[in-house]
Amino acid sequence: MLREFTSLTTNSVPGVIKQGKKYYCNRCGNKKLKDFYRDSLGVYCRNCLVFGKSATYTKIIREQIIIPKKDKCGLTKVIHLSDMQELASKHCVKAYKEGKNTLIYAVCGAGKTEIVYEVILTALNEGKVVGFATPRKDVVLELYPRFKRDFCQVEIVALYGGSQDKGRLANLYITTTHQLINFYQFFDLIILDEVDAFPYYNNKMLEGFVQKAKKKKAPIIFLTATPTRKIQYLMKTKQLDYFIIPLRFHRYPIPVPRVSLTSSTITKLNKGVCPKKILNWLESKKSTNKQVFVFVPDIKSGINLEKILKPHFTCAFVYAESPNRKQIINDFRAGKFQLIITTTILERGVTVSNVDVCIVGCDAEIFDERAIVQIVGRAGRDKNYPTADVVLFCDYYTREIRKAIKQIKRMNKMAKRMKLLL
Ligand SMILES: [Zn+2]
Repeated sequence: MLREFTSLTTNSVPGVIKQGKKYYCNRCGNKKLKDFYRDSLGVYCRNCLVFGKSATYTKIIREQIIIPKKDKCGLTKVIHLSDMQELASKHCVKAYKEGKNTLIYAVCGAGKTEIVYEVILTALNEGKVVGFATPRKDVVLELYPRFKRDFCQVEIVALYGGSQDKGRLANLYITTTHQLINFYQFFDLIILDEVDAFPYYNNKMLEGFVQKAKKKKAPIIFLTATPTRKIQYLMKTKQLDYFIIPLRFHRYPIPVPRVSLTSSTITKLNKGVCPKKILNWLESKKSTNKQVFVFVPDIKSGINLEKILKPHFTCAFVYAESPNRKQIINDFRAGKFQLIITTTILERGVTVSNVDVCIVGCDAEIFDERAIVQIVGRAGRDKNYPTADVVLFCDYYTREIRKAIKQIKRMNKMAKRMKLLL
């Protein structure tokens, strides 16, 4: 097995090589001629430039390392899977054994992490090395303690920008897709979480890293709750094997959002006014125990809305660059205030047990089908509170709103047809 890193001094393979009239980047797998540029020293790859130049005059050291074989890996406790999770889990093991790629399309709240436990153990017990890769560092940080707790006799390493684990050897790597830059034909199985999420989605460099980090014939298991159009196309044309889980682990349907038309929503917010319908809806939540996620399209609207709501509600606004982002989210989880106003940064990952959800200005471009489905997916995740009131406030219907609602209804219908719902 090989691990690699880039250096200007030692000799091994060049960063970029010439193949006939074309170039090939040994670091990210790029071979598109238009992505290679010339400088005074030679030719370099633009595709992976954020990591510094990979060029005809730089070297990549490929160092062979041996990972001690593991067997008798297991779980520290029995994980109870729903019937659907069980089937999906078996599907993953089968795909792995046949060495083919597969996709698990599981609705938000289906419990997709547990689904891959069995396939991870199967591979580890064969002495193989497994990579669980995700575009988001938050997910790595969340999964690492969970995997540590649930797996026994397994060396686990977490890799992300700033991780202390870099260079440590393990059998199971939980890593950001960016960190796969350091691996070459290394993994026997890659599980790729949230294939549709930023920054992986539409990122040729990261796609190249994944392909290069795995052994040539190693399969990939893709996980997603909101497949991109490209993935949907691959499913439809049977170019990608897949398994769909249309229902949540608690077997209640996904709340179907209601659309409420408001007028000049964002313009009004900028003038310090909030449309009455939104205020009334929020007001109605005061008498319930429910907390509310209020999604806004951008930071400016969030700041404006927070100013308007602060005198009347206990609330806070959180966005990507909020200095105390973690604290605010923890306080919200602890029930310290009722409303959290946020941008799409909280569309994934954050689970709060008893919440209603609304999107203000849902006609904004940023709320595409997948974003809306993810946001709606925040609601009703707890089996003790499986229902929720979800409202999309917008000036007009967009195609994306219609598509999102259609997708949610389709999944609920599929679950109903399969007689899976409670
Ligand atoms: Zn490159």
